[in-house]
Amino acid sequence: MTDTSYANHCIICNVTSCKHHNDRKNYCSLEAIRVGTHESDPSQDQCTDCQSFAPKQDNTIFS
Ligand code: SF4
Repeated sequence: MTDTSYANHCIICNVTSCKHHNDRKNYCSLEAIRVGTHESDPSQDQCTDCQSFAPKQDNTIFS
């Protein structure tokens, strides 16, 4: 199970379905995240993604 007790106060996040989310403090529990885009020419905030996201119900063996 992932330890999410750490709250990185530089990364405010409300994505509660992510396994890195600190649900108690509403911050990310990672030291750093990767932000990217799924668009060829991003122009709005909706075009960007947290690529460190991982679902809480991840059944991958080596997660
Ligand atoms: S990895 Fe990304 S989506 Fe997940 S808690 Fe951290 S900032 Fe939020």
